[in-house]
Amino acid sequence: MSKDSCDGCGRTVTVSGGIANLWSFGRDAGTVGTAITLELEDGTSHLLCYPCLEAIPDYPTAEDVERLEQVDGESSTLGTR
Ligand SMILES: [Zn+2]
Repeated sequence: MSKDSCDGCGRTVTVSGGIANLWSFGRDAGTVGTAITLELEDGTSHLLCYPCLEAIPDYPTAEDVERLEQVDGESSTLGTR
């Protein structure tokens, strides 16, 4: 586990690493970390918290990641920058 910040909204997140986290998303989010590294089609990777992962499209681009904004403690949204 390590402390880091979300590439989208900047919220502080904990990362336990590994694709395995995907499978526990929604059930053990509090114990396995609050963010995962998302690899985009263009080859870049971004650390995103779960609220941001819910806010971005199914096939996000780096532009989508940049538009992510924190709404409150538990949700994020895409801004219109
Ligand atoms: Zn975020």
